Amino acid sequence: MKKPFKRLLLASSVAALLAGPSLSTANSGVEKLTQNPANWASWGGNYAGTRYSELNQITASNVKNLQPAWSFSTGVLRGHEGGPLVVNDVIFVHTPFPNTVYALDQKTHAIIWEYTPTQNAEVTIPVMCCDTVNRGLAYGDGKIFLQQSDTVLTALDAKTGKRVWSVQNGDPKLGMTNTNAPLVVKDKVLTGISGGEFGVRGFIAAYDIDTGKLAWKGYSVGPDADTLINPDKTTTWKDGKVSKVGKESSTSTWEGDQWKIGGGTTWGWYSYDPKLNLVYYGSGNPSTWNPVQRPGDNKWSMSIWARDADTGEVKWVYQMTPHDEWDYDGINETVLVDQEVKGKMHKTLVHFDRNGFGYTLDREDGALLVAEKFDKSVNWASHVDMHTGRPQVVAKYSTEQNGQDVNSKGICPAALGSKNQQPVSYSPQTGLFYVSGNHLCMEYEPFEVSYTAGQPYVGATLSMMPATADAITGKEAGDTNLGQFTAYDAKTGKIAWSNKEQFSVWSGSVATAGGVVFYGTLEGYLKAVDAKSGKELYKFKTPSGIIGNVNTWSYNGKQYVGVLSGIGGWAGIGIAAGLDDGTDKSGSEGLGAVGAYRSLNSYTKLGGTFTVFALPE
Ligand code: CA
Repeated sequence: MKKPFKRLLLASSVAALLAGPSLSTANSGVEKLTQNPANWASWGGNYAGTRYSELNQITASNVKNLQPAWSFSTGVLRGHEGGPLVVNDVIFVHTPFPNTVYALDQKTHAIIWEYTPTQNAEVTIPVMCCDTVNRGLAYGDGKIFLQQSDTVLTALDAKTGKRVWSVQNGDPKLGMTNTNAPLVVKDKVLTGISGGEFGVRGFIAAYDIDTGKLAWKGYSVGPDADTLINPDKTTTWKDGKVSKVGKESSTSTWEGDQWKIGGGTTWGWYSYDPKLNLVYYGSGNPSTWNPVQRPGDNKWSMSIWARDADTGEVKWVYQMTPHDEWDYDGINETVLVDQEVKGKMHKTLVHFDRNGFGYTLDREDGALLVAEKFDKSVNWASHVDMHTGRPQVVAKYSTEQNGQDVNSKGICPAALGSKNQQPVSYSPQTGLFYVSGNHLCMEYEPFEVSYTAGQPYVGATLSMMPATADAITGKEAGDTNLGQFTAYDAKTGKIAWSNKEQFSVWSGSVATAGGVVFYGTLEGYLKAVDAKSGKELYKFKTPSGIIGNVNTWSYNGKQYVGVLSGIGGWAGIGIAAGLDDGTDKSGSEGLGAVGAYRSLNSYTKLGGTFTVFALPE
């Protein structure tokens, strides 16, 4: 039965008056649901974001027998990122704009309910930088949370699909959109904002799961009062130790008011440690892409954040790419794993950044433990200085040093990173992380750009090409592959193995207790590889290119693997948006990726399908 909305509001405001600021510990049930491997109840399979499943029916020896069991067309053509949720036997599938949600019955394969929000396409679609993608849903407290493209966050009754509440999270007229999956933590649902290419100032916001009321909001850049940085408590890694950030640590690294249009958007994935009660995520590039227009470190763009889940206060923050000159957006996922590093057990956070370095930090205090290249073709920096925590930039690849209106060549990786948003997986059996990666370099020419609200604010022209140096050795090898699938040890920073792929791997992987890792390819193959050796064990061509994440669950005691296919996203933008220009002067479409991926057209076409795999009876 639906609760009367008015009474609920009144009751909560009375409670707030009596109790003062509420630090609720209400449990949304997500943690318990994710502990049952029959479910896939959040984007990462669990709060730690490991994308590891205890299911072991499908093994390295029998995966060759895998077959498609059933499939479902989403009815939408553009790029399908993210993956399905499976909660108590019901599958929830999302689509890119118009963001339809389907609840599917696994017994009959019928649609239990469907919901399509009303959104203004003319206002929203032109301000989505890199296809009209959506990275999925969140579940908690009997509700499905849908983060619509137009920034509206909507709660649906998971049983009926009826809308419970909606809240406006941003303004598309100012270039704000959303592509991220939300995360439910206790009595709040967390979401971020996209629009780093439109001068949007990034934030993460927490809303009450019952009412949609804003609980807290922390910006990535701006005064301490906006970032929720506490100068007396918040720490960062500097001078070889964990140190206080000090007062106004963000605005003091910007010139004038540039921080107000300074980017640091938050369109990636969020993870959570229930024991530490900390939420983790990364912030994106500073705006504009022209570094000459924004002197300083541009803190805290390009940073990993640890925030108190109840208040949003920042426990620690670490900037990976100070004063970005390459659009090495820092939004990639943060995976929480306890492991021994240099002879000592740590609660670690592992993050594979667009900039090509894999970072291992202590997630309690933000101490930097390991920072190594996970693709050795990376050349923009020689290494990360472990004392200062800063990358050592190689002068000839500094786009600012070369100057405005100068085309810097041979920079690796390209702007879309050694890895983009597609999340990694981690197997406790092997101790390895499985990284879906890119193998591209770029030319980058910054130019003067002025800010107009709601208009592209890019300020650089790019084109991308294959990295020709080998991913494991870094030696010139004449490589022509645009991608690879790599196993990496975050304790030591060493690459265990790396499989070349013709195109970027734009699909999040899943690792299982059966010793198998699954991922998808841009041509459209679902692949299974041996978790230890990387040996390819199975592949099946789905109806379109895969940019979605592979998830696994069980139903009636049988293990299933499912993935959305549907080419698009940044790598597939040429096909998705019908673009054909290799370099793009306006910067509003394609952002340099069209040329490198033109030959994808010979392998795949548009169309969203959800395909489910299982072993034969
Ligand atoms: Ca960006």
